[in-house]
Amino acid sequence: MFEIEEKINTLRKELNKHNHNYYVLDNATISDYDFDLKLLELQKLEDENPQYFDANSPTQRVGGTITKNFENIIHNNRMYSLSNSYSIEDLYDWENRMLKIIGVEKLEYTCELKYDGASINLTYKKGSLKTAVTRGDGFKGDNVTSNIKTIKSIPLQINSKEFLDEFEIRGEIILPFDGFHKMNEERIKNGEEAYKNPRNTASGSLKLQDSSEVAKRPLDCLLYHVVTDNTKYQTHFEILDAARKVGFKVPNEIQLCKTIDAVFEYVKLWDKKRSELPYEIDGIVIKVNSLHYQNEIGFTAKSPRWAIAYKFKAEQVSTILQSITYQVGRTGAITPVANLEPVELAGTIVKRASLHNADQIEKFDIRINDTVFVEKGGEIIPKIVGVDLEKRHTDAQPIKYASHCPDCNSKLQRKEGDAKHYCINENGCKTQIIGKIQHFISRNTMNIDGIGNETVELLYDNNLIKNYADLYDLELEQILPLERMAQKSAENIIKGVENSKQIPFEKVLFAIGIRFCGATVSKKLAKHFKNIDNLIKADFETLKNVDEIGERIAESVVSFFKNQTNMELINRLKNNGLQFEIIENNTAVSTKLEGFKFVVSGVFSKFSRNDLKKSIEDNGGKNVSSLSKKTDYLIAGDKMGPAKKEKAEKLEIKIITEEQFIEMIS
Ligand code: AMP
Ligand code: ZN
Repeated sequence: MFEIEEKINTLRKELNKHNHNYYVLDNATISDYDFDLKLLELQKLEDENPQYFDANSPTQRVGGTITKNFENIIHNNRMYSLSNSYSIEDLYDWENRMLKIIGVEKLEYTCELKYDGASINLTYKKGSLKTAVTRGDGFKGDNVTSNIKTIKSIPLQINSKEFLDEFEIRGEIILPFDGFHKMNEERIKNGEEAYKNPRNTASGSLKLQDSSEVAKRPLDCLLYHVVTDNTKYQTHFEILDAARKVGFKVPNEIQLCKTIDAVFEYVKLWDKKRSELPYEIDGIVIKVNSLHYQNEIGFTAKSPRWAIAYKFKAEQVSTILQSITYQVGRTGAITPVANLEPVELAGTIVKRASLHNADQIEKFDIRINDTVFVEKGGEIIPKIVGVDLEKRHTDAQPIKYASHCPDCNSKLQRKEGDAKHYCINENGCKTQIIGKIQHFISRNTMNIDGIGNETVELLYDNNLIKNYADLYDLELEQILPLERMAQKSAENIIKGVENSKQIPFEKVLFAIGIRFCGATVSKKLAKHFKNIDNLIKADFETLKNVDEIGERIAESVVSFFKNQTNMELINRLKNNGLQFEIIENNTAVSTKLEGFKFVVSGVFSKFSRNDLKKSIEDNGGKNVSSLSKKTDYLIAGDKMGPAKKEKAEKLEIKIITEEQFIEMIS
């Protein structure tokens, strides 16, 4: 038995080390594959030996806890804000005030970047992370520990006697640009709106109820302050250095400065170089280096007197607006795009900026050849934030917003209350038609492998498809003669189309492209109405009464099914055997399983693990976490470990599949 405990501990240590190498030092010494193997091995050992459970094991980083209401926790040490400065004069003034207070001639400073995210206070006891609490109002914040544990650069366990038994460390939870952009690409693909900037997304992530959702977000944590009674340290710089050695991510850009002039050099350097950083900063934080002097200088009601933020101006340039073009999306929405005289902004050449909609153009009264101000936050493309009226040409004319579709030239429509104009020639506008089919086949909808975006265009241009229902009439003989079409690729198209008939209803609903019905809304509608006929029958009122379905969506659903062409498409899809109802799995309630104990293991195709467990309980059964003589059934999914199977066999526990389980309860 002790052998197992030792093995578990060794694996935990090893995995912690690899996490640190990868997420803090950016220097992996093991392949992802080998890491996953070790993690699986640990997970298996922990599953089989629940007595060694540890809330801070690396296996806990995948999350899974649901928090409905975050507990309020009073900070042991208040979390202050920072006062701001904007010029070197402000910095001299600040220094003079401090020199007067403590009566010395000079001070030394630590300069740090001001990471733009959400602050967090981490408490460690005996080397273990105990709580993670948001700043809140500075006196008390929310306990978001289960979410924070999913951030891999935060050590859950530190093996060092460096700090005292108990200490607090503070930092900023951030979302680096890279991860932010990837998240947005995924959202756009899912028909969801892109997140505005990394900072709000990072701070919003902390309050998600499902920690496994947080685990999916590439968050990071940069540390900048340690609260400890340890008298071993004389300076802030030293203490940050010690924190880094213990395993915390303290950025290497921090710097010691002996004068305010040197501080200002640092400020200027990073104002210029900030676009090279992988994350967003909005200034510099300057702190008196000596902890002793910090103590003497003290606090105002709101902020430490010994620290100050230097705020950067938002990155902004001006350039000429050359023209406005209009783009039509797959749902017919028109987006105006500003074409700019190329200009460098935050390290990249900008040629286009977003204008969102007609209201925005009107608000700025923007005109062609205007000199416009362009800013870059964390957004994907920069935005126009204003017009330099002094530089306007006297003959500049107000912009007349497009009245006709840039593609099919049909008249645009704008409903009251809608920000956007739409091309309503749904079934005759090439960009929309192709866009709709491309959406239909994409990974998040019907997932038709074998057809890519170019193939859609190729098939369309060759008159083989005019809508998504046509995909199901495609025949090998028609595709083969197409230019550069190999036998294998043609077969893959047919096979992919055939396989898509198994795709669940909620995805089919998302795939057919009802305006305002993204992945989440489609899921809600599928769950609520169970099948397409119920949904088609639903009127505006009924739809509006569904949780989280607003008027805009309700109206769009009604008008989609009122459209004759759409109904014909749906009927053709139906005749082709696509899934138009949800597979009931957890709605049954019975006492069929009363008296039986179940263990669930592995990955399932028709249920999530949680739904499966719920279904067991709904039918009177009981879930137990590990196999014993008293267990009646082991429901085995994919990827169940061989050890579990062996154990079940030894204990003569019935092993059943997911399908057999469904039979049991149906
Ligand atoms: P403000 O919110 O403008 O009052 O600025 C204070 C906040 O700046 C703190 O609560 C921290 O979350 C954040 N911050 C970012 N980087 C640092 C840093 N290097 N040192 C201290 N605070 C920082
Ligand atoms: Zn059009």
